Amino acid sequence: MLLRMKARSKIIIKNISVVSRMDDSMGELEDCDILIDGRQIQSIGKNLLAENAAVIDGRNKIALPGFINTHHHFYQTMTRVLPKVNDAKLFDWLIYLYRIWEHITPEWVEISTKLACGELLLSGCTTSLDHYYVFPKTAENLIDIEIDTARKIGLRFHPTRGSMSLGQSEGGLPPDSVVQNDEEILRDTERLIKKYHDYNNLAMTRIVNAPCSPFSVSTALMKESIKFARKNKIFSHTHLAETFDEENFCLEKFGKTPVRYMEATGWLGEDVSFAHCVHISGDDIKLIAESRSCVAHCPSSNMRLGSGIAPVRKLLDSGVPVSIGVDGSASNDSSNMLLELRNAMLVSRVKAGVTSMSARNVIYMATRGGAKTLGRKDIGEISEGFAADIALFDRRDISFGGTGDPVAALIFCGRDFTASDVICNGEILVKNKKLLAFDEKGIFDEAERIFKRDIAPHL
Ligand SMILES: [Zn+2]
Repeated sequence: MLLRMKARSKIIIKNISVVSRMDDSMGELEDCDILIDGRQIQSIGKNLLAENAAVIDGRNKIALPGFINTHHHFYQTMTRVLPKVNDAKLFDWLIYLYRIWEHITPEWVEISTKLACGELLLSGCTTSLDHYYVFPKTAENLIDIEIDTARKIGLRFHPTRGSMSLGQSEGGLPPDSVVQNDEEILRDTERLIKKYHDYNNLAMTRIVNAPCSPFSVSTALMKESIKFARKNKIFSHTHLAETFDEENFCLEKFGKTPVRYMEATGWLGEDVSFAHCVHISGDDIKLIAESRSCVAHCPSSNMRLGSGIAPVRKLLDSGVPVSIGVDGSASNDSSNMLLELRNAMLVSRVKAGVTSMSARNVIYMATRGGAKTLGRKDIGEISEGFAADIALFDRRDISFGGTGDPVAALIFCGRDFTASDVICNGEILVKNKKLLAFDEKGIFDEAERIFKRDIAPHL
């Protein structure tokens, strides 16, 4: 059941305790208002007036730009915490899960999109990429279902047309039942661009080209797909340098490191982002930086699978735009962006020392870094003319009592990591820590039903 209210043309958030704008000056304003007109932020300041506007009380609240999640696999929300792979490393985990994912159904995709988008929104996220790449012959138009569902929920969405073309019979990792040929993949990417991609400012849907990884697609597809993406002016995304196993696979098969393989296939540039980049050398970092390619850092997933810790401080110091992704829910096992920011800050301190990552550094990566990764100049910042994508967090929580820096406290402290109010595209999607798009308990019950029907028989 859809409970979401029709957007009002104006919203005013009154007397916000702190607005952390994430603009170039990293400005923070105290006790001020934000006026939203339609889909954009109209003004920020004290004592703003607006007739007939919906009013949100900003007292004791922190306002941040809505977070931008740059790596996810929504469909995996239905295969979380499976006992046989709770303690497996990536390749073993993938081989087990491919045998379950090959039975994916349209209802599974729909419910998993609701679960993922719902949890993302509740954690203050307003834009997400989704890397979808499993296409069994038994189900069609699964990305269309994701897009329709995300539109009903109201999240700004960058769905990828993922792909796998290298099955086990050709030396790849996935079973042959879920791979497609290069022609099918490019034809469907073109169909999705024509049907859904919005090139305009404030776009709610943009398609991304996203072969799964070097170990699941052919070299020909890597080369063809990047040319195709550039011809159609869309961005490209893939997994890269996630584990030692992948590095060994690339060295054995191509005689190159994963990043050098990207260079050889034309996959470097500011229209490209790589998820993970855990196992990269100084030479790799130089190549990524010089080409202005972006990195989606997924700390929880890397820790959960024991893959390692990405050298984020080195990447940032080299000028690489770094963003944050929760990664697929089967390797996190959560879609909570605020929690992901906390993990990004903490794990960087383990790798590179306590001064390597501040609370504001991770907020910047999850907002401005995310916008750069997705090639957008209209989101990630609370400034006039930017998209009205704002997350509010309530300071009046026992976990924030006695704190001296309210913005940093969101990352350092925390108990439930839930936003009090979330606005996306000028619409209120979360109010008083509750989703307005659907009944949360009803979605849980639906997920249980689909799990028993579609997943449990294959465990
Ligand atoms: Zn992933």
